[in-house]
Amino acid sequence: MAELGAARPLMPVEEALARLLDLAEASPILEQERVPLAQADGRVLAGALVSSLDLPPWPNSAMDGYALRLADWSGEPLTVSQRIFAGQAPAPLLPGTCARIFTGAPLPAGADCVEMQENVEVLPDQRVRFAHAMHAGQNIRPQGQETRIGDQVLDAGMRLGPIELGLAASLGFAQVSVVRRPRVAVLSTGDELVEPGLALGPGQIYNSNRRVLCSWLARLGCEVIDAGILPDDLPKTRQRLGELTHVDLILSTGGVSVGEADFLGIALREEGELALWKLAIKPGKPLTVGHFHGVPVIGLPGNPASTLVTFALLTRPYLLRRLGVAKVTPSQFAVPADFSWARPGDRREYLRGRVEQGRAVIYPNQSSGVLRSAAWAEGLVEVLEGRTLAEGEWVNFIPFSELLG
Ligand code: AMP
Ligand code: MG
Repeated sequence: MAELGAARPLMPVEEALARLLDLAEASPILEQERVPLAQADGRVLAGALVSSLDLPPWPNSAMDGYALRLADWSGEPLTVSQRIFAGQAPAPLLPGTCARIFTGAPLPAGADCVEMQENVEVLPDQRVRFAHAMHAGQNIRPQGQETRIGDQVLDAGMRLGPIELGLAASLGFAQVSVVRRPRVAVLSTGDELVEPGLALGPGQIYNSNRRVLCSWLARLGCEVIDAGILPDDLPKTRQRLGELTHVDLILSTGGVSVGEADFLGIALREEGELALWKLAIKPGKPLTVGHFHGVPVIGLPGNPASTLVTFALLTRPYLLRRLGVAKVTPSQFAVPADFSWARPGDRREYLRGRVEQGRAVIYPNQSSGVLRSAAWAEGLVEVLEGRTLAEGEWVNFIPFSELLG
């Protein structure tokens, strides 16, 4: 249903995302630093990683078994002329013999075949009888099979996780160049907010958005500046914003839904730039985008589920793109809905849900004020604007695991 007095059509989620990514690309974070691999988890690679090694560096055995030169084998048993363990440098294979060899050990020069130990018979005189047909190259990992010198194994703009770091380690890198951490200031606006640990007064609630955002931003590799609770007051808003000149982004929550109490908006309009977007997203909708004295500002709606969804789907990709990350949107998959949806909405809904036995199940209370729905959930179930659903129809599911890191 269109909202009373809504002058402009709602902005589709795709458009909001595209605009934010454009803004991000216009102010990339370019500074780099070199860090040891042990400190690079979650960081963004600043330059491509090019291998200066062949991997494996030499042909080696993929099995515990026996290495031989196939041309030397007439069908008769062969004498074992050496034993080669991983980490050893073998002598060339003596003609007419075989070598005992273990997984990962370098192949001796002259050998072109490894037979697994299960397929041989060791005779009482210690010679080895090969009982199965063999072919050249079997059970051998050739030099450079995985990586060649000069291969670009990781691209600039990739996020480093345990697997990428393992790959870098396998190529001998002790350090990598990563993009500097973005500095993000988190501002919680609202006269009603109190920090946990203090007693609640009349009309007060605990500040939960601060915890959600500070912890989430830290997981994204940001340096978090907790700018505390900001009362609904214009001079204080101006003053606090003015203190945050050294950050890459000011991220606030609350205050954007009520015109009169939108002191953030007033401050931005006076001393920076302000755009108020009305998004076709639920929970969510009002989003402040602008800057204060040139420092980018994103103002998220204050309801906890709205904060979560607009952070996950819009702010997270914006921040990652500022770091140069190419893939900023989460992978998602389609599952049949275990619920029906009768009311087509004018906003795209992101229901807090789970996948149980292959079907999307949603939390019974989808109010934007209910953070518990998201704690119960394992991801977001997407219901497109204008859509109704019968049980069993397919919906997109975006796992939180795709969004939280
Ligand atoms: P607002 O966008 O300021 O109108 O806030 C919308 C709703 O979200 C109100 O019920 C606020 O009390 C609540 N809210 C705003 N900020 C927070 C916060 N940091 N933690 C918990 N709830 C909040
Ligand atoms: Mg408020």
